[in-house]
Amino acid sequence: MTHEIAVIPGDGIGQEVTPAAVEVLEALDVDFEFVEAEAGDAVKEETGEALPQETYDLAASADATLFGAAGETAADVILPLRDAVDSFVNIRPAKAYPGVDAVRPETDLVFLRENTEGVYSGIEDRLTQDVSTLTRVVTESASEDLGEFACEYVEDNSYDGFTIAHKANVMRETDGLFRDTIKRVADENGVETDEVLMDAFATHVCLNPEQFDVIVCPNLAGDVLSDLAAGLVGGLGLLPSANVGPERALFEPVHGTAPDIAGEGVANPAATIISAAMLLEYLGYDEEGQAVHEAVEATLEDGPRTPDLGGDASTEDVTNAIIGRL
Ligand code: ATP
Ligand code: MG
Repeated sequence: MTHEIAVIPGDGIGQEVTPAAVEVLEALDVDFEFVEAEAGDAVKEETGEALPQETYDLAASADATLFGAAGETAADVILPLRDAVDSFVNIRPAKAYPGVDAVRPETDLVFLRENTEGVYSGIEDRLTQDVSTLTRVVTESASEDLGEFACEYVEDNSYDGFTIAHKANVMRETDGLFRDTIKRVADENGVETDEVLMDAFATHVCLNPEQFDVIVCPNLAGDVLSDLAAGLVGGLGLLPSANVGPERALFEPVHGTAPDIAGEGVANPAATIISAAMLLEYLGYDEEGQAVHEAVEATLEDGPRTPDLGGDASTEDVTNAIIGRL
């Protein structure tokens, strides 16, 4: 079956690393049809719209989307695009690689972050001049969706179970519901869980990241803790992410447009190529996905490397080396 893949390079180095990832996908024996669309600062300048309707519609109908980065207009582009795929979970692996300087080289974590509610529900009020409030929404249904996804994820990827990070000792109703629902779903599926208070997690993950594998967390906690873990592995140019919905998903590097190096042809394509490997696995191409992960790892270890990793290779050199190892 042909899968339709929306390709949205966006701005800055998105224009360099996204085509690199597409080249890698094209080198594989997979039945993909790529459809490119525009989003971001450049298209806004031309047309007045950062996210043209046809780009939104494409992401909302394609089997998967590969997105690069958007500049000033990032929020106007990526938030609606995540909506277009109805994404309820954000997957953020944080893994250190041999050959890349890391604060904690033993780090190998995957965050599964709730992607629709919590304190990011956008319900804020200014009651008086000097008092403001925020309403935190946690629903059983969103927690169930996340719990079921986490169970499938650990089974598909051969993990023993997952850790729920929360603060239910203080936020008894909201994080209580989050923790209890996910724990119930895991019990029903025969998946092992443990739990950790999110503040304690922040300390433990810095000292001993190897004691954790898959961490399931509420929206804000997932945002902050996965950034913390990103600091442990070093190199923004290496971190991939996926926004997964019930029927489709969007894959993107964690980094932005990197205006300081855009246009020079030296951006590290690894984060986007690893995102493409996650796209392959999402669509059931497990072997191909694994092969891409291994080719990236071998290239990080033995070179060539882009300047952010201390080398002097171009985006193209690294992409060709990865393709050569496939
Ligand atoms: P934006 O506003 O689009 O997020 P930014 O200035 O925050 O832009 P980032 O893309 O977040 O830039 O990158 C932060 C730093 O990391 C920059 O110095 C950038 O050059 C570097 N960087 C990010 N991604 C890469 C990459 N893929 N390859 C090499 N360097 C990168
Ligand atoms: Mg940035």
